[in-house]
Amino acid sequence: METSSAARRLATRFVAGETLDQALSVSRRLKDEGITVTLDHLGESVTGLEEAAEARNVYLHTLDAMHDSGIGGNVSLKLTQFGLDFSYDQCLANVEQLVRRADALDSFIRVDMESTQYTQRTLDLVEDLHARYPRVGVVIQSYLYRSKADVEKLCGLRIRVRLCKGAYLEPQTVAFPNKEDVDRSFVELMKILLDRGEYPAIATHDPAMIDAAKAHAAARNLPKDAFEFQMLYGIRRDLQAQLVREGYRLRLYVPFGKAWYPYYMRRLAERPANLLFMLRNLFR
Ligand SMILES: Cc1cc2nc3c(=O)[nH]c(=O)nc-3n(C[C@H](O)[C@H](O)[C@H](O)COP(=O)(O)OP(=O)(O)OC[C@H]3O[C@@H](n4cnc5c(N)ncnc54)[C@H](O)[C@@H]3O)c2cc1C
Repeated sequence: METSSAARRLATRFVAGETLDQALSVSRRLKDEGITVTLDHLGESVTGLEEAAEARNVYLHTLDAMHDSGIGGNVSLKLTQFGLDFSYDQCLANVEQLVRRADALDSFIRVDMESTQYTQRTLDLVEDLHARYPRVGVVIQSYLYRSKADVEKLCGLRIRVRLCKGAYLEPQTVAFPNKEDVDRSFVELMKILLDRGEYPAIATHDPAMIDAAKAHAAARNLPKDAFEFQMLYGIRRDLQAQLVREGYRLRLYVPFGKAWYPYYMRRLAERPANLLFMLRNLFR
C-alpha cells in the first residue's frame, strides 16, 4: 500500500505528505487560518534500536525546522517508534534528547498513547521525564476504565494531558465496549481536566463532546486560552473553521512520512463511511 501511488493519493486526505517540507507547508497554511499544529512523523513499532535512533534524529530535525521556519507548534510521537519494544531505558534516552531540545526551543513534546500493553510504561516514562523537564505531556483515552485514576494523578503532577476517546481495539476487560460509556467517561474526564488540569487539550471531532467542553468552560468562567481543542488533519474541516471563528484555540495533529499505512487504517476503521469513500475512489 505504502508504495502504490494510487493508495498514496488516497492517504493525502489524512496525511500532509511524505516529507518534512510538505508538512511545514501545510503547517504554514494552517497558521494563516489561525490553527496551530502538532507534527507527527509516521512510523510505529520499529524493528530495532537503530531505527529508533533514526526516528529520534528525524524528530530533532523537525523541532529545529519548525523553530527556524517560525511556524511554531510542537510534535507528537509514539514510544514504540523510539524503541519501547526493545529497551525502556534506550527509549527513555531517545525521548529525553527530544525533550531537552524542546526545552531549549520553547517547544513541547506530546507522547501519544498506544494500545494497553504500553499504557503503564508510557505514563511511567512521561512522569520520569516531566520531573526533570516540564515540556512533555501525555494522552489519556476515555475508553479505558483506568483513565479516571490516571487523570487525577496527572493533574496532581501538573502534567499536560490530551484527552481523546481511544483508537485501538481493546478487550472489554480493560475498556468500555459501548460508545455511550466512552462518551460519558470523556465528559467526566474533560471536566476534571478543565477544573484542575494543566492547559488541557480536548481532542475530538464529536460535536456533543465539544459542546460539553464549551459549556463547562463557560460555566467555570475559564478564558478561551486556558485550554485548546485538537483535531486530526483532514477531519471535520467545517467544525475546525467554526471553532476558530468562535475564538477557541485549535491545534491540528498533522502526520507526515512514508509509513502512513497503520495511521490511515485507524482513520478508516473509525468510520465506515471512510471505507466506502476509499473504495469508490479506488474504483474510479
Ligand atoms: C489530536 C488528536 C490526537 C489523538 N491522539 C490519540 C492517541 O494518542 N491515542 C489514541 O488512541 N487515539 C488518539 N486519537 C484518536 C481518538 O482516540 C479517536 O479515535 C478519534 O479522534 C475519533 O474519535 P472522536 O472523538 O472524534 O469521536 P467519534 O465519536 O469517533 O466521532 C465523532 C464524529 O467525528 C467525525 N470523525 C471521527 N473520526 C473520523 C474519521 N476517521 N474520519 C472522518 N470523520 C471522523 C465524524 O463526524 C464522527 O461522527 C487522537 C485524536 C485527535 C483528534
